[in-house]
Amino acid sequence: MINFRLDRFLTLYLFRHIIKKQTSADDKRIPILMYHSISDEKEKSHPYYHVNTSPAVFDAHMRYLHENNYSVINLQNLEKSFASRDSSEYVVITFDDGFYDFFTNAFPILKKYNFSATVFLPTGFIHNERLSFKGKECMTWHEVQDLQSKGINFGSHTVTHPQLNNLSTKEIENEIKLSKNKIEDETGRAVESFSYPYAFPEDKEFGITLRTLLKKCGYTNGVTTKIGTANKGDDTFFQPRLPVNTADDILFFRAKLQGAYNWLSKPQTFIKSIKGK
Ligand SMILES: [Zn+2]
Repeated sequence: MINFRLDRFLTLYLFRHIIKKQTSADDKRIPILMYHSISDEKEKSHPYYHVNTSPAVFDAHMRYLHENNYSVINLQNLEKSFASRDSSEYVVITFDDGFYDFFTNAFPILKKYNFSATVFLPTGFIHNERLSFKGKECMTWHEVQDLQSKGINFGSHTVTHPQLNNLSTKEIENEIKLSKNKIEDETGRAVESFSYPYAFPEDKEFGITLRTLLKKCGYTNGVTTKIGTANKGDDTFFQPRLPVNTADDILFFRAKLQGAYNWLSKPQTFIKSIKGK
């Protein structure tokens, strides 16, 4: 009973009975997928919280996108894609935390389908020698440089992966500025995208402060853990994403891509509050 997926049950119900495919260009929605680790490691928590996606399931997701003619774009092209009047389906693929299994497991699969992705790095854990974050190995700068030369984009996920809303304005600025500078120094390319660590706080004033700092540091866009598919009305710096993991079989994955998971954005705040950590 503990693993009953109420979120899955309701999502598939909505997908079958209520959600119609978006056809109007004005309410075009673009899914931004949020992956973390691509590995077979098992997790003990409820599947809603899982952050691992097995390589086999990740391959199935990418194959689904490929077979259904999705165009994989990066965050910088979102606005242009919202404005386009064509009927193409777009998707953005993102990875948080800079784990080494992106290099070993995710990239070969992305390459097979000729897809790009954006990886958000907590730069305090990316070094020349291999470090770990949350008990998992991270990539090295050498691997980051190698992936960039093969078409992968990198964004900032702060330096130390803190709960940003607990920090002073100066500390927040350091987290977002120093991580950006470090990636730019190592890759020689401008960093425009930011991924907010942990749950995004429902605090308007904090949002205004953070947006001001992100702009000041030269970012042009950002993503959060808020659940949803992106549309042009969203704040460019705090866009919603769709969390995905091993539990997403193709039926659930397809329903999420088409917006049937978006209802969860409201109860999400409540679910996080009962998560107890
Ligand atoms: Zn993270």
